[in-house]
Amino acid sequence: MGLLFGSFATVLVSRVPQKKSIIKPASHCPHCKTPIRWFHNIPVLGYLIQQGKCASCKKEISVRYPLIELLTMLLFVTCAQKFGVDLGLFLRDWVFMVLLISIAFIDLEHRIIPDRLSLPGLAWGLLTSPLNDQPGWMQSLIGAALGFGIFYALAWFYQWRTGRSGLGGGDIKFLAMLGAYVGPMGVLQTILISSVLGSVVGIFVGWVSTRGVKNGSLMKTSIPYGPFLAVGALAAYLLGEILWTPYLNPT
Ligand SMILES: [Zn+2]
Repeated sequence: MGLLFGSFATVLVSRVPQKKSIIKPASHCPHCKTPIRWFHNIPVLGYLIQQGKCASCKKEISVRYPLIELLTMLLFVTCAQKFGVDLGLFLRDWVFMVLLISIAFIDLEHRIIPDRLSLPGLAWGLLTSPLNDQPGWMQSLIGAALGFGIFYALAWFYQWRTGRSGLGGGDIKFLAMLGAYVGPMGVLQTILISSVLGSVVGIFVGWVSTRGVKNGSLMKTSIPYGPFLAVGALAAYLLGEILWTPYLNPT
C-alpha cells in the first residue's frame, strides 16, 4: 500500500504544480510523452527494470520517484506499527503521510505549497479527527486555528518590520493544515523543530552560496520552509508524547 500510494504521491508532485489533472492522462515520460507500460510503472521495481532510464527515449528518470515511493512505504509501516491498523490509519494517518511527502517535495522543487493540497488537507484533517484518540476533534480545531494564527501574525510582523515578505501564504495554510493533524501542542513542536532545522540548514546553504560573493547577505538566502515544517510535523505526529511528556510531568 505504501509503495502504491507513494507512486500516487509522485504523480501529485509532478502534476499539481503544473495544475494538471491527477487522474488523466495515464503516466507518461515527461520528455518523450510515451505512455509508460504497466510493468514499467510498478513502484521502485519499474525504475530498476528500466535501469533509471525511459524505455523509449532513454532519458534519465528522476531518482526522486523511487525515493518517494520507498519513503512513503517506510512512513506507512511506521504509522501502522505505532497507531495500529484501523479506520483511522487508512483514512487519516496514511492520507496525512501522502500530503506531507507531496507538499515537501513540491515546495523543495517549485517553492510553492499549492492550495490544491493544503486546503483539502486541512478540511480532511478536521473531518477525520474523531477517528483517532489523538488529538481529537477539539484539539484538531484548536491546532489548525493556532497554526494559522501564529504564522499569520508572524508574516504580518515581518512584513511590517522589513517591508518584504518572509513567510509565504502557502506556509500559513500549510501550518493550519498541520495543526488539524497534530493539535496545538504539535503545532508548537512543529514550529520549534522546523525553525531549528531550517536555521541550521539555512546558515549552511547561505554560507556555501555566499562564499566568494562580495556583500552576499546571509539573511537574504531563500530556502523553502515547507520541507522543514513537514519534518517537524512528522516528528510531532510520531514522537509527540515522547518529546512533551518530560516537560508536562516532571518527576
Ligand atoms: Zn521518454
